[in-house]
Amino acid sequence: MSDRQQKNSSTRTVNNLDDLPSPYLSGVFDLSEVKSVEIIMARGCSQNCSYCAIHESPLRYFSFERIRDEINYIADHAPHLKEILVTVADMYENVPLGEKVLPLLKKLAEERKIRVLFYVNVSTLSHDSVVRLSDCEYFDVEVGIQSLNPSVLTTCHRLPDPEKIKYNVAHLQQLAPRASIYLGLIAFLPGDTQESYWATLDWAISTRANVSVNHLRIIPGTELYDRCTARGIKVSPDYPYFVTATDKMNEEEVFSVSRLTTQIFFTLKAISQSHFLHTEFFSLAASSKRKNPHTALAAMLARLWIKNTETVKIFEAFVRGFEQTKSLDHDLRTNYISPEDIACLEEKYRLFKPYLSK
Ligand code: SF4
Repeated sequence: MSDRQQKNSSTRTVNNLDDLPSPYLSGVFDLSEVKSVEIIMARGCSQNCSYCAIHESPLRYFSFERIRDEINYIADHAPHLKEILVTVADMYENVPLGEKVLPLLKKLAEERKIRVLFYVNVSTLSHDSVVRLSDCEYFDVEVGIQSLNPSVLTTCHRLPDPEKIKYNVAHLQQLAPRASIYLGLIAFLPGDTQESYWATLDWAISTRANVSVNHLRIIPGTELYDRCTARGIKVSPDYPYFVTATDKMNEEEVFSVSRLTTQIFFTLKAISQSHFLHTEFFSLAASSKRKNPHTALAAMLARLWIKNTETVKIFEAFVRGFEQTKSLDHDLRTNYISPEDIACLEEKYRLFKPYLSK
């Protein structure tokens, strides 16, 4: 028996989650000024991604009645609520429960203009009945993609089928067109080359969904952590255990890929806030003959803005905001460019455009 298995076997598992007291229904929280809450639908996970520890406990759900009562309690006691995070590894896995919970969340979200974020697994996007119930303008649906490299996905115990992943994401966009879809990637997974990383990011941007890139953390006790040394992967000794070198990228390459990703996200942030830049970006990318046209164009545009004496200040402020998060993850939701700065980026873009089209 491995150390991990021994640890798991000695950990007490609560089989019926409803036996756990609800901090909401027990009145523990004063929600009168609260803007953000978390509703826990389940614990554990049925998947076994090699970099994750959540599946160390089996998947169990709270009953619909318990979840419904918590949602109603929160609706009655949190007058300033702006966002709800629903904690469940995959909202679409338990179809009967999802079919009951999603309409409740949708009703509350639409009545009170509350954003609701939940996670789904890319392999269950074919569960049409629950996917359709996600068609709400206040829903943020986060899909873990991680990579499109089949050997990387196999190592991570994820669905190793890029075409199926692409099909499922398009299917989600078709069935829930009003939801905000976030495609989550992980940089520096074992086996991921620079080429496959940029190809994955390029595809994700091309879908026009929101994209985030998490810098791989390898947590002690996970399967991947146990294999790090054998694969030549280096991990920071301190929390949050970011990877510093992989079997395919040395430390300098990890640093430079991460820095270029920051530049690309500067462009993605700008186009997410400007209808004009958004239209121009996808029009230019569609006519480009370059390999990975979206990442290439985003990087080129960022470099032009960085070289300009006015717009470099906007980029530097963006990087400072990124550094303040003390995370190496790239997420469009954690930074903001002011309307004045967007106007300045648009003005300089008009000057750069002839160079970008070449
Ligand atoms: S990454 Fe998500 S799907 Fe994979 S084991 Fe962890 S919680 Fe489950």
